[in-house]
Amino acid sequence: MTTNETVALNNIGGLIIDMDGVLWHGKQPLPGLQAFFELLRAKQLPFILATNNASLTQQQYIEKLADMGVTVSAEEVLTSSMATATYLKDRQPADKKRVFVIGEDGLKQPLEQAGFELTSLYQVNQPDKGITGEGADIVVSGLDRTLSWDKLATATLNIRAGAAFYATNADTTLPTELGEVIGNGGTLAALEAATGIKPTCIGKPEPILYQQALKILGTEEDNTIAIGDRLNTDILGAVNAGIRSIMVLTGVSSEADIKDVDYQPTWVMQDLENVTQALQQAL
Ligand SMILES: [Mg+2]
Repeated sequence: MTTNETVALNNIGGLIIDMDGVLWHGKQPLPGLQAFFELLRAKQLPFILATNNASLTQQQYIEKLADMGVTVSAEEVLTSSMATATYLKDRQPADKKRVFVIGEDGLKQPLEQAGFELTSLYQVNQPDKGITGEGADIVVSGLDRTLSWDKLATATLNIRAGAAFYATNADTTLPTELGEVIGNGGTLAALEAATGIKPTCIGKPEPILYQQALKILGTEEDNTIAIGDRLNTDILGAVNAGIRSIMVLTGVSSEADIKDVDYQPTWVMQDLENVTQALQQAL
């Protein structure tokens, strides 16, 4: 049963689908996961799985879905880390490619593949001592489940020495089997407090991740629909990117939360099974 039953899904050329809280909670697949993807394949509807969660690599997401009985290809997965690497690669001069990363393999790997050189703990420039070229040109922060004081200190020193500050995403929390735990936004709050500098964020709700997804899909804003569970990332991001959205109620945001914000999802549905039913009727 959809909440907005009056307006059926329409004009569906492609989907941009969030994963945490939409497809699974932590390691637990949500009901109807396989049937959802079976329908997308049967109808040959193109989709991109686009996530702010920067902790896993593209390959790790493919494997996670395979463990849940779903086959997707590399081109169908876009993480905020991959989007960050692409964004920086397009803009960063060739002699400014040293990056200090707070994050996991999911972030380090795409940056290295894009030609960036990763710096180590306490590699920092100290111009007053004549030490330059040691530190990072850029600090990038993403979800890091081995976050340490040394990493925070190194990031602080580099940002204070002039490194550009980027973030894969600003989600303050992350849903897990046990509940919500601290997300990258918590790390950013600490670094902002210590440096007075705000990062440039690549992930949702900024439109960059969705824009890269549209480019990969080859669809337009008006025939693409985003599916997500979180108002202040997935749904606001869709609004910022100019695309329609389905909010599912299996993740972070509740139906009551919608009243507290000044933007709206186009559709609200209970869960993935309802999305599958709505797609079935529309396609
Ligand atoms: Mg989510």
